Amino acid sequence: MFPEFTLRYVRLPEHFYIRFDPVPVPAPRLVAFNRPLAEELGFDLDAFDEARAAEWFSGNAVPPGAEPIAQAYAGHQFGHFNPRLGDGRAVLLGEVTDRDGRLRDVQLKGAGMTPFSRGADGRAPLGPVLREYLVSEAMHRLGVPTTRALAAVTSGERVFRRVPEPGAVLTRVASSHLRVGTFQYFAARGEHEAVRTLADLAIERHYPQLEGLEEGERYAALLEAAVGRQAALVAKWMGLGFIHGVMNTDNCAISGETIDYGPCAFMEAYDPATVFSSIDEQGRYAYRNQPWLALWNLARLAEALLPLIDADQQRAVERATALVEAFEPRYGAEWLAVFREKLGLVQEEAGDRELVEGLLEALQAGRADFTLAFRRLSEAVEEGEAVEDDAPALLALFENDAALRKWLPRWRERLAREGVGREEIAARLNAVNPLYIPRNHLVERMIAAAAEQDDFGPFEALRQVLAEPFTEQPGREEYAQPAPSTERVFRTFCGT
Ligand code: AMP
Ligand code: MG
Ligand code: MG
Repeated sequence: MFPEFTLRYVRLPEHFYIRFDPVPVPAPRLVAFNRPLAEELGFDLDAFDEARAAEWFSGNAVPPGAEPIAQAYAGHQFGHFNPRLGDGRAVLLGEVTDRDGRLRDVQLKGAGMTPFSRGADGRAPLGPVLREYLVSEAMHRLGVPTTRALAAVTSGERVFRRVPEPGAVLTRVASSHLRVGTFQYFAARGEHEAVRTLADLAIERHYPQLEGLEEGERYAALLEAAVGRQAALVAKWMGLGFIHGVMNTDNCAISGETIDYGPCAFMEAYDPATVFSSIDEQGRYAYRNQPWLALWNLARLAEALLPLIDADQQRAVERATALVEAFEPRYGAEWLAVFREKLGLVQEEAGDRELVEGLLEALQAGRADFTLAFRRLSEAVEEGEAVEDDAPALLALFENDAALRKWLPRWRERLAREGVGREEIAARLNAVNPLYIPRNHLVERMIAAAAEQDDFGPFEALRQVLAEPFTEQPGREEYAQPAPSTERVFRTFCGT
């Protein structure tokens, strides 16, 4: 049933990882399994055996051909460098080759204490496991590069956080787990050859088009490519109101995938200063700061790559600085492309950025729900006698709609120049502005049902809704609504 492993990371020199078998759990039970992803990875589902799967995805049995390891990495956490983090509760089983011929990491998260655990228990509570499962899969369906969730297993053991909770193991699939922090781990030790090995692996797995380039160019090109991927990624987050919450360098993947769904959350009422994470006291990782934090992380990657970019360090610094500084215009262009689409625009005009900003200002002034406001633009495309005639649902989202009323005619005038009909514009809008996102209160309800009542019904229901985020699903209106005031989520917790 398990596809064959194509081991890659474990073939690297020994100090890149520590061989480590997952620690068995008392009573594994498979509570979620991602069949479409399993098929993509080459699982033989005709031979699917649930008891067997529970053994593998809990780490109680090592699947044939896997060679489990804990990967070494470092990282800047909230700006402070820790030279040794590593997989404190995750175990990489190995890589498998998917249907498209790409290598994908298969990792168990919550697999027990490793030599990198630093006193923590190596386990994961069910709540955060289900949150990561649901949100990462939703992000995928929303068109955002991300790690994926293959399975969730409850362990039959309690883990102790704020309160005792059921323990669980998540099977995470990633196009790799190479992080900025992996490069930093070796760079901080002055191990330039190891950094080169990692850079070559990153190119092989994520940027194979760079493989033919000669030495000096190759590593500069890797940095440039990573800058491009981060710029595109964060622009996508911004377009969805997604707040990652813990953009440390160890949570910044070289592949450009979103990784580490800890205290992440989606913004409801639009406010660029929004922060959810309880441990982010300074608001370092607020919504509006995300692009600048990505840039900061990329500067750390650049530092690690300096010795490879040019033997002359002065020249290397100049080169790397220019490449990192290119983030800003690159991000600006990606952001504009995302929001142009969200306004139904295909053509590019000089005033488009101001037009987008005008709507964002109106959203903020009106404390309107970010997701629904964009979604309901499709009902407001055509001008009626008065704005109320054709955009009541949109207006209803605003506590104060004065700015929106001024903005709508500007937008409609701009839409007219697209030269396509109302239907086409509405279809464009609904294809990029989701109706359903993982609303924080729904995620919290789902977690409470599973963790407190062993009821996975809400998890299944939410998973189904979020599988088609752009399609209106009759009878599921509630899933599109912002939190009622009594259930509004202001704080999220890592729950690690
Ligand atoms: P994170 O905040 O999830 O990015 O994790 C940062 C570091 O803490 C990583 O090295 C993790 O492996 C480690 N870590 C987080 N939670 C645990 C845990 N429960 N047990 C051991 N290590 C952990
Ligand atoms: Mg992490
Ligand atoms: Mg985490």
